[in-house]
Amino acid sequence: MENINELRHLLQQPRNIVITSHRNPDGDAIGSSLALYHFLRKYDHQVQVVFPSEYPDFVAWLPGAPQILIYDNDPQRSTEAVQAADLIFCLDFNSLDRIDKLGEAIAPLDTTKVLIDHHLDPDYFADYMLWRVGASSTSELIYDFMEQLEALEHLDASIGECLFTGILTDTGSFKYSTSPRLFRVVADLLELGIDDTKIQDLVFNSMREKHLRLLGHCLKNRMEIIPEYRTGIISLTRKDYEYFDIQRGDTEGIVNYLLKIKGIKMAAFITEQPTIVKISLRSKGELSVEEIARKHFKGGGHKNAAGGASYKGLRGTIHQLKEILPQYKEAILNED
Ligand code: 5GP
Ligand code: MN
Repeated sequence: MENINELRHLLQQPRNIVITSHRNPDGDAIGSSLALYHFLRKYDHQVQVVFPSEYPDFVAWLPGAPQILIYDNDPQRSTEAVQAADLIFCLDFNSLDRIDKLGEAIAPLDTTKVLIDHHLDPDYFADYMLWRVGASSTSELIYDFMEQLEALEHLDASIGECLFTGILTDTGSFKYSTSPRLFRVVADLLELGIDDTKIQDLVFNSMREKHLRLLGHCLKNRMEIIPEYRTGIISLTRKDYEYFDIQRGDTEGIVNYLLKIKGIKMAAFITEQPTIVKISLRSKGELSVEEIARKHFKGGGHKNAAGGASYKGLRGTIHQLKEILPQYKEAILNED
């Protein structure tokens, strides 16, 4: 980070700090936010984590999770917290419109903002930025941030559990976005005495029977393969949401099953939400789903994992995606 000394100086006095992250926070959003929360509290700052919407159950065990404020549940206290802050940390997202009403509350404030993120194509709204696209996760960047502040001696088991959870979920258990650096960071976290097997169990083996059956339903009844474009689509209707009682986080990871089919290069998971249709995209190799999400679905993300939304209904959105495929034929059919 440029100006790290200036920020270090700012942090030398106790401040009123808000940490926020994106809507539908995933393991990395909550892991990085809570790790930073535990770290900053060591310096006698007042720290409040505020999310636009509720986090999923599989991260509810993380230390500090019960103290998080959720804008959807408590808009007034969330807005007050943001307005009272001297410093706002924005983690794991790169544009204030990713946090909806919370973003609208933050945008007009001239409060100092710090962005820590690894997504492509950021808006430059923050005063300080720690931004590295090559980082596996924002959690890895929180470790970098502590290192740059020369504060790694403050790592403890709570911070370690939060960071490990963020890294674990954003890399799909160390399958994507790995690097020698990442494994060194993880080695440091394990040396804090955290139980990595227990964390994997808490995060990945907490499904309800209904949701394992939902996975079966997706694969048996809702999956379409388009071999000529090496693309797979899984879509869920609003009725599926009702029947399987799908809550936040219950569909996490389903999109990745499509990439298990030999030859498949792009995977789409398209779901009918109350007002919008949400689209999750994954790819292998050089094909950029970030570009597809950004250009066609008002979204963004990473080269191989991105998302966006559409107002064209479920069938309309599936149709739109299929119509787009020929434009990306070269990248899709390219062997890399
Ligand atoms: P997921 O498919 O798991 O929801 O998201 C994959 C990646 O795409 C995440 O890094 C997420 O931040 C990004 N992403 C998902 N939906 C959107 C969206 O609507 N807008 C933007 N800008 N990024 C998104
Ligand atoms: Mn992330």
